[in-house]
Amino acid sequence: SHTLLAGHLADAFADAHGLESSDLLARTSKEKWLKWKEEHQPTETLAPYDTGTGKLFGNHDTIGTLAIDTCGTMAGACSTSGMAWKVPGRVGDSPIIGHGLYVDPKRGAATATGHGELISGICSSFLVVELMGRGATPIEAIQEMLQRVASSYEITPEHQVACIAMTPDSQFAAGALRAGFSYVVYQDGPAKVMNPEFVLNS
Ligand code: ASP
Repeated sequence: SHTLLAGHLADAFADAHGLESSDLLARTSKEKWLKWKEEHQPTETLAPYDTGTGKLFGNHDTIGTLAIDTCGTMAGACSTSGMAWKVPGRVGDSPIIGHGLYVDPKRGAATATGHGELISGICSSFLVVELMGRGATPIEAIQEMLQRVASSYEITPEHQVACIAMTPDSQFAAGALRAGFSYVVYQDGPAKVMNPEFVLNS
């Protein structure tokens, strides 16, 4: 009857149910974060961005996975520590159903990575799955979602959104707002690293 708890009362709930609590922050990440905190205001959220290479310095880490078995049962998962340098208390896209991840056995599955606020703002994963349910291929659905992001927000050079999607009959594809994203496919043989089929601002 409850889908989502957040913040200290979620911790209290977990404690009350005997879940073991632990600090998940890696030592190296913690050191980087403490250094960043010394040099920035607590309300600053901009990720360090290298205008020379167009690369973000390690502010994305979400891993999204979609799977389908030989009986056609689909599953999806995503794992993240959220966008780096975020304001304390911020909830990103990954934990919210339909934003960072959505799986519908009849329509397909999608998961996203990148700037959570852009992903959340248009319910990206739900949108991709809904479009596939109405007949779009995975690539068409991702393309439409990325175009919706681009037309809904003022996209800046540090913004990135990437998505993988799969239909219940095992068609799949990936797309991204800009270059730099790759994904891995595991099907029968060794895993293959793939480039996205669609990049909006290539
Ligand atoms: N989507 C995540 C967030 O905004 C960041 C990421 O993809 O690494 O929290």
